[in-house]
Amino acid sequence: MPVIILVADGARPDSLAEAMDRGDLPALARLRAEGGAHTVVTSWPSVTGMAYTPFLMGRFPGPVGLPGLRWFDRSRRISGLFGHARSYVGSEMRQVDTDLDAGAPTMFELTQRKLGALNVIQRGLPFRDRIGYSAGFALRAGWTHFRGNVRGWLAIDRDIGSTLARRIRKDNPEFVFAALTGIDKTSHSEGHNSQVVRDAMKIVDATAAEIRHDAERAGTWEETHLWIVSDHGHSPVTQHDDIAAHFRATGFRTLAHPWTFGTAHDIAVMVSGNAMAHLYVDLRNRTRSFWPALSPRWREPLDEVMRRPSVDLAVIPQGPGSAEVRSAHHGSAVVSRHNGTFSYRPETGDPLGLGELSDVCACAALEATADTDYPDSVVQIAHLAASARSGDVILSAARLWDLREQYEPIPHVSSHGALHREHMLVPLVTNHPVVRPPRRTVDVMPSALAALGKPIPPGLDGRSFL
Ligand SMILES: [Zn+2]
Repeated sequence: MPVIILVADGARPDSLAEAMDRGDLPALARLRAEGGAHTVVTSWPSVTGMAYTPFLMGRFPGPVGLPGLRWFDRSRRISGLFGHARSYVGSEMRQVDTDLDAGAPTMFELTQRKLGALNVIQRGLPFRDRIGYSAGFALRAGWTHFRGNVRGWLAIDRDIGSTLARRIRKDNPEFVFAALTGIDKTSHSEGHNSQVVRDAMKIVDATAAEIRHDAERAGTWEETHLWIVSDHGHSPVTQHDDIAAHFRATGFRTLAHPWTFGTAHDIAVMVSGNAMAHLYVDLRNRTRSFWPALSPRWREPLDEVMRRPSVDLAVIPQGPGSAEVRSAHHGSAVVSRHNGTFSYRPETGDPLGLGELSDVCACAALEATADTDYPDSVVQIAHLAASARSGDVILSAARLWDLREQYEPIPHVSSHGALHREHMLVPLVTNHPVVRPPRRTVDVMPSALAALGKPIPPGLDGRSFL
């Protein structure tokens, strides 16, 4: 009974549903009719790679070691040559596997015959079972990216999709995790509602159709689980506020990619997504000292950046189990986590717009936030703020804004990474009906193990929907 997970990277639940309703995606519409289509919450930061840890590890990304697409390493484990900073954009993406908590198993470590395509997290996946991992592929993707060749991404998706279907036919794997990135790439350059994004969705549909056709011919379709998911949404960007450039202009020695050389920096600005960022100060400290203990000289510059129009929410970790959430217009509140329960206490306002929560389970915390602007915000903030690798201040961008402008190779009109609903809600289409409504993408991994009849390891953040 194979489990095949196809990631339609960057697809929003509403745009995917509209495309199915329009008749653009007949294979997915058929899966929806026979199984189901659900809207679930991804993890924060809502960005590719980090947001794959729920699918492959059943865990939120911060606590397993991936706080963002870029992060600063206070512990100095990462080479000083790169300013003790990590960016998974480019060749360092290969460091993801070793940056991840070795004690948290991946799906690839828990299964026998497996296959992956563009899956970022590869631990436990043999080289021969990685599609799109060759140097030739990297060159082609790099060329497509830097030339801003938008249609080139569709050709890459078609290649990956047909290679994937062929390998599934030939190798008969029990677990497959494959990403098609065309929807995300084309959304960035042309906008999520553009025609080219619709075309990218059709490639996901064609891939699902081919996998189904092959399984039907082999007589294995009834026992096959085929799930179409996404890792984050998208929303339009009209203005870029380069936070790193802002600090440089204010006279601070600023550590930010791609210029991470040299020493004696004052602040590290690690943009992830690009609609979120980690800010690190007091860089000489090897561990976090948390907001109340930061050197007083940072109060004013950080207060100022949190009031910028580009910033919607600022999260300020206050200690291992609590964080202040601040909004320039809606005041501040405290999110805390204690013995597996979550609380939210408004102080000068209600920035998350949900009233008050006292010691509720993760499930009730999601329910309380589901219809707000920030679905699952309390649980997501508590997890990311708890990561030892997170910044002293974590920014979530306002609508129409992102936080990086310089050194972006091609202009982008759409972005993701933030906490608001256009970025956090994702689709999950299944070919068989589920037993319990799926809530979050962290539910996917335990469900896959349940479908495969394998034991579910302890300590996961999700629950099986089968
Ligand atoms: Zn993207």
